[in-house]
Amino acid sequence: LVRFTDVSKRFGENTVLDDLSFTVDAGRHVTLIGPSGSGKTTILRMLMTLERPDSGTIEVGGRRLFPADERQRREVRKDIGMVFQQFNLFPNMSVLRNVTEAPVRVLGMSRDEAAERARGLLDLVGLAAKEDARPSQLSGGQQQRVAIARALAMRPKVLLLDEVTSALDPELVAGVLDLLTDIARTTDITMVCVTHEMNFARDISDEVLMFDSGRVIEAGSPEKIFSDPEHERTREFLGAVL
Ligand code: ATP
Repeated sequence: LVRFTDVSKRFGENTVLDDLSFTVDAGRHVTLIGPSGSGKTTILRMLMTLERPDSGTIEVGGRRLFPADERQRREVRKDIGMVFQQFNLFPNMSVLRNVTEAPVRVLGMSRDEAAERARGLLDLVGLAAKEDARPSQLSGGQQQRVAIARALAMRPKVLLLDEVTSALDPELVAGVLDLLTDIARTTDITMVCVTHEMNFARDISDEVLMFDSGRVIEAGSPEKIFSDPEHERTREFLGAVL
């Protein structure tokens, strides 16, 4: 469903992605791990069209995201949703409006239909009672649940999760991870996660990709990567984070 072919990206002198190729099949849950600065977030930002590659191709659902004209990129982009580290909710809108805004504006859904679906999603993430609240009235964990509902409201084929618990107080982390684990188990959505929560990675991943210096140096099942990594660099990294 997601295919990177020979993708390179530099910021000035800094080569962040170096002829990177990998694929994520439909319905799979793939986690990207690796040292800070290895390019994991840049990969997700490219899928959100927030960064563009210098060379190479990125396809989603068999359609080009890069290189592609603006119109096609906007179309392909609709298949992709993202949950950010810092929630990024619209501060001046109610919780309900945060979830309905994109379906109404981008998909052209009626307000009534969007609200009905949003209520279903807020129920799923345990926040049905908060639809009229502003984001600032919610805890970090609740805000992140709204962000998850907002991403799902666009019915993306691919959900990107970028260190979604790293801005949360420790006692709120488990609730958000349990919710995402549930979503992974009960839907057929494809997930690409960047996380430092190795237990979560082990629980939800079908495959783990280990990055170093802009390339995938090792890929495999979580059992294999976490228990019996091939690569010295992977062993070092896991030794430092586990
Ligand atoms: P982390 O785990 O710390 O988030 P990461 O693997 O996600 O790391 P990226 O955030 O993708 O790494 O960043 C890769 C490198 O690219 C870093 O050296 C970062 O400083 C650099 N970088 C990212 N975005 C930009 C930008 N807009 N301008 C300049 N440099 C950038």
